[in-house]
Amino acid sequence: MKLTLPDNSSRELPKGSSGYDLAKDIGPGLAKSAVAMTINGVQKDLCDVIENDASVSIITIDSNNGIEIMRHTLTAQVLARAIKNLYPNSKLAIGPTIEDGFYYDVESDEVISSDDLIKIEDEMRRIIKTKSAITKKLVSKSEALKIFKSKKESYKEIIINESDQTDSFQLYFQDDENFVDLCRGPHLPSLSFIGAFKLTKVAGAYWKGDSKNSMLTRIYGTAFNNDKDLQNHLDNIEEALKRDHRKIGKEMNLFHFQDEAPGMVFWHPNGWTIYRNLRNFVRDKLQSNGYIEVNTPQVIDRKLWEASGHWDKYRENMFITEIDEEHANEKRINALKPMNCPGHVQIYNQGIKSYKDLPLKYAEFGLCHRYEPSGTMHGLMRVRAFTQDDGHIFCTEDQIESETKLFIDFLSEIYADLGFTKFDIKLSTRPEMRVGSDKTWDKAEEALESAINNLGHPYRIDHGDGAFYGPKLDFVLTDAIGREWQCGTFQLDFNLAERLDAQYVGEDGKKHFPVMIHRAVLGSFERFIGILIENYAGKLPLWLAPIQIMIAPIISDANDYADTVKKEFVNNGFRVEIDKRNEKISYKVREHSLSKIPYILALGKKEIADNTVNVRKIGSKDTNTMKIKDFLNELKKELKESNKC
Ligand code: ZN
Repeated sequence: MKLTLPDNSSRELPKGSSGYDLAKDIGPGLAKSAVAMTINGVQKDLCDVIENDASVSIITIDSNNGIEIMRHTLTAQVLARAIKNLYPNSKLAIGPTIEDGFYYDVESDEVISSDDLIKIEDEMRRIIKTKSAITKKLVSKSEALKIFKSKKESYKEIIINESDQTDSFQLYFQDDENFVDLCRGPHLPSLSFIGAFKLTKVAGAYWKGDSKNSMLTRIYGTAFNNDKDLQNHLDNIEEALKRDHRKIGKEMNLFHFQDEAPGMVFWHPNGWTIYRNLRNFVRDKLQSNGYIEVNTPQVIDRKLWEASGHWDKYRENMFITEIDEEHANEKRINALKPMNCPGHVQIYNQGIKSYKDLPLKYAEFGLCHRYEPSGTMHGLMRVRAFTQDDGHIFCTEDQIESETKLFIDFLSEIYADLGFTKFDIKLSTRPEMRVGSDKTWDKAEEALESAINNLGHPYRIDHGDGAFYGPKLDFVLTDAIGREWQCGTFQLDFNLAERLDAQYVGEDGKKHFPVMIHRAVLGSFERFIGILIENYAGKLPLWLAPIQIMIAPIISDANDYADTVKKEFVNNGFRVEIDKRNEKISYKVREHSLSKIPYILALGKKEIADNTVNVRKIGSKDTNTMKIKDFLNELKKELKESNKC
């Protein structure tokens, strides 16, 4: 039979060869690191037999898929077995992999707490040391039921009973066959491929995620191919915890949340200063890039949401308000806007538009409300009320490519100014369920792709992941500790203009529907400020810092001088405060460093006499005594370098 490999070369192997035979045929090095394979895109065990001509690729332990399979084997064969060894009366439920790790849900009559993780890890290491091979048996439904019934594994019985499969249930064993797990596979060929792991926490979880069901114990772990990668990952988690914007937000007194308005931010003066500075920055950029700022109502009659399709598709995420209108017999039902697009079309529809008006770019710092389940909210990162740096470009099909290029340039400039020099582009193409002709989709996808190619920016394609109304680009930036955040988006829409009857008169004198492009660079101000805080660990660049200078008199005799110094800096546009409390300077420095104020100026007798300030930059142990004018010039230079003067 003919087996086609990922590089399009092919190999002839006798029918009935296994993945392992293929790996050996390609080379002994590959056979050593092979752990599984894909046949026509479906993952299989290495021992599985290849029946016919097929596209086959070998999965090695060092690949992402290989690591994923290793985590899977670690949870299903090693963690599960260790639990059964230590807690013989426990029952195994499910053990999937998750990002960077895995978990296993078990029912246990003994309490398993985080104190027990070391003991479980030790048992796992003992099991891994056997380097046992992992073998697979296929059994019928009745046989599978019999086996798990005898082991009193009632959750496995439920899984088998609920499956519509009648045969070929996959059971995986280790050498001694004392342990069996039911699994879709694939698994590592042997435990000797397992790298470095750590169990991370214990939590409660309902069977099937339903609170009506019994509560199980969920044990989480993480695993990598070697100690170095594992340690790196654990360090990153620790670093991310240190940078958590909720913690830093408290230290810097930026914002809070409370129960009366879940998922909606109470911005404190400091946080709102960051917000306003960021908004002014984006506003200037929009203005110099041909956008016109507009503003549309918060509360809009459901009729418009019905026309736009939101009432039908998005209803459960919308906040609804009812009002008794005067002179009207019926209640009027409105929704808080979850998106700004229909509002922008209403503005577009005022007056006749011609091709000469296009591209027409509306921007709005639109406050949107979307209902999110309370369990999914997370500080500023996921909220129910947020302001998008939203914009819609109305253009012709021929303008798509040039608008794409303009937008990517615009976005790269903003990201770079905000300290993110690296970002990735994801192109999502037509999904199965879509509107618009194939011809239009061809044109749109080509235009997007050609615009990225011409910029020479690398990108990846997500086939079939586009919106139903058009293909899109998503922009994923990488922060200071290597985490990825999807922020910007650029979505072509062939649907909404037609639905809401937005038209333009073309060169041919006939009416056409414009293409509508939904685009945002930051996404939402709330989330982006969360990302900025974590990226800078709170030490924001000078232009964004809510309080830029804290003046700290060392003696009360310096209070008047402090007022004079403050005036000088405020007159030059800086945000300055004075800490006149009767505290030691070391105490003041510690406190204001924690709230991440970029500069602390200590003033004592010497400074008054010489008309100077003693400057301490955040993060530095040294101080520097300078003339006021010199320090002012230095600050101005710093602002200029970050381009936000
Ligand atoms: Zn939109």
